[in-house]
Amino acid sequence: MLDVVLSKARFLIVDDEASNVRLLERLLELAKAGHVVSTMDPRNALSLVISEKPDIVLLDLHMPFVDGFTLISQIKAALPAGEYLPILVLTADITPETRQRALGKGAHDFLTKPLDPDEVLLRIRNLLETRFLHLELQRQNEALEQQVRDRTSQLEDTLGRLRAAQEQLVKQERLRALGMMASGIAHDFNNALTMVLGYGELLAAFFKNDAPQREREQFQHLMEAAEDASHVVARLRDFYRPADQDELRVAVDVNIAIQQAIVLTAPRWRDKCRARGIQITVETDLPTIPSFLGHPPEVREILTNLIFNAVDAMPEGGVLRFSTSSEDGRIFIRVSDTGVGMTEEECSRCLEPFYTTKGEHGTGLGLAAVYGFVQRYGGSVGIQSRKWAGTTFTLTLPSSSAQKVVVENSGLTRMRHLRVLVVDDQEIIRQIIAEMLQAEGHDALPVENGDEVLRQLALSKWDLVISDQAMPGMTGAQLAAEMRATKSSVPLILLTGFGDEMRTNGGTPPGVDLLVSKPLTASSLRRAIASVLNE
Ligand code: ADP
Ligand code: MG
Repeated sequence: MLDVVLSKARFLIVDDEASNVRLLERLLELAKAGHVVSTMDPRNALSLVISEKPDIVLLDLHMPFVDGFTLISQIKAALPAGEYLPILVLTADITPETRQRALGKGAHDFLTKPLDPDEVLLRIRNLLETRFLHLELQRQNEALEQQVRDRTSQLEDTLGRLRAAQEQLVKQERLRALGMMASGIAHDFNNALTMVLGYGELLAAFFKNDAPQREREQFQHLMEAAEDASHVVARLRDFYRPADQDELRVAVDVNIAIQQAIVLTAPRWRDKCRARGIQITVETDLPTIPSFLGHPPEVREILTNLIFNAVDAMPEGGVLRFSTSSEDGRIFIRVSDTGVGMTEEECSRCLEPFYTTKGEHGTGLGLAAVYGFVQRYGGSVGIQSRKWAGTTFTLTLPSSSAQKVVVENSGLTRMRHLRVLVVDDQEIIRQIIAEMLQAEGHDALPVENGDEVLRQLALSKWDLVISDQAMPGMTGAQLAAEMRATKSSVPLILLTGFGDEMRTNGGTPPGVDLLVSKPLTASSLRRAIASVLNE
C-alpha cells in the first residue's frame, strides 16, 4: 500500500559504506518513497542539504573526513531558525556516551546497525510526520501573519482616510469661521469707513480751497488710506457674502474664460517678465467641457488671482499650465505652475484671508477670494503642492446641467446705469471689458480706435470712455486731448500696461480723469468707475 507520508518526502542518505547506502535505497524504493539522494562522501552532505532540501537526513556517525557529530552541528547551523529537519542517526556504536553526544548535537532518533527494515520505516515515518506537521504549522502561522499584516494595513488606510477627512473638516471649519469673522469685521469697518469717507468728502471742499499745502497733503493721504481700506473691506464682503438666490448667473464657458484671463494678464506674465529677462510659458489643454453657471467677471477674477500667484511663484520663469476636464456633472479646472511650491503649513493655510508669505507685497486676499467665489458656486478648491516642486490648484465646480435653473435678476446693478465706450486695438480686450461692464448692468460699446470714439461721442450721449493707452494711430492720451479739444466733458479712464511709464513722466496726461494699470479686474474696474463718477 502506498504510504502518503513516505511518498511525498525527500530523503538524504549520508554513509561512507556502500552496502549501507544500497540497503537504505532499496528499502526506500520498495516503500515507494518520494525522492532519494545519497552520498558516501560526508564532505558533500552540507551542500546537498542546501540544494536538495530533504525532509529527513539518514546519517552515519563514524565516517572519514567529517564525522556525523560535526555534520549534525553544521546542518543545524545552516538551517533557517525554527525549521525542523529530522536527523536519524544510523550507527553500530550503541554506547550510551555516543547516543548522548549525538542527541546533544541535535540528532532526533537512532537506529542501530544491522538495520531492521520495519523499524527503519517506522522511525522514518514518525519523524517525517512530525516534520510535515511542523511545516503545516509554519504555513498556517505565515498565513495568519499575512492576514494580520493585511488587516493592519487596511486599518491604517482607514485611519489615514479618517485623519484626512478630519483635517479637511477642521480646515473647512476654520475657513468658515475666519470668513464669518472677516465679513463681520468688514461690516463694522464698512460703517466706520462710510463715516470717515462721508465726512471727508464734506471737508474736501475746505481742504481744497482754504487749507495750507501741508495740511492739504495730509488730508489727501488720510482719504487715500480710508479708500484703500474700504476697497479691502468691499472685497472681503464680496467673497464672503452668502450665495444669493437672486444673483444673475449665466452659463460660463470656462475654456473661454481661461483664454480671456490669459490675455488679460499678459502684461504681468509676459511683458513684465520679458522686461526682467525671464520667460513664463503658457500651456493649455482645454477639451470641450460643459459650461457652469456663474458670474463671468468673478470667474475671471478667480483665474487672475491664480495666475498672479503662479507668476509670483516663478521668479526665475517657468511653465504656467491650464487644463480642464469634466466628469459626473462636475467640471475641473487645473492651474499649475513650476514655481517654488508651498510647505505643508503654507498649503493648509493659504486660503485663509490675510494669509500671505509675500510680506508687504501681498494682501493675502487672492486665494481667499478664489475660495469664497468657488464656495458660493457650490464647488471646492484642491491644492497640490510641494516645496520647490510647483503647485497645482484644482477647482471643482458643478456643471450647468447639474445646477438649478438660473434666476434672472434686474436688481444686480449697484451703480446707476451707464453708457460706456470701450476702446482698445485688441479685440479680445475690448470685448472682455465690455462684457465686464455689461455684467455690472451697464451698456458698453467696444470700438477699435480713437477716431471711432470721437465719432460715437458726436452721435449720441455717453457717460464714460475707457481707453487703452498704447494703440496704433491715436494713443489714449491723444484721444483724451482730442476729446477736450472738441469740448467733450465725458470722463475718460486710461488703461496703461507695463512700460507705459506715464506716471513717472509727468503724471496723468491732460484730459485723462484716471489712470488704471492693466490688467483690469472686475473690482478694479468697479472702483475706477466709482472714483471717476463719484458714485
Ligand atoms: P497673496 O498673493 O497676496 O500673498 P493669496 O491669498 O493670493 O495672497 O496667496 C496666499 C499665499 O499662498 C501666498 O502668499 C503664497 O504663500 C501662497 N501661494 C498661493 N499660490 C501659490 C503658488 N502658485 N505657488 C506657491 N505659493 C502660493
Ligand atoms: Mg495672490
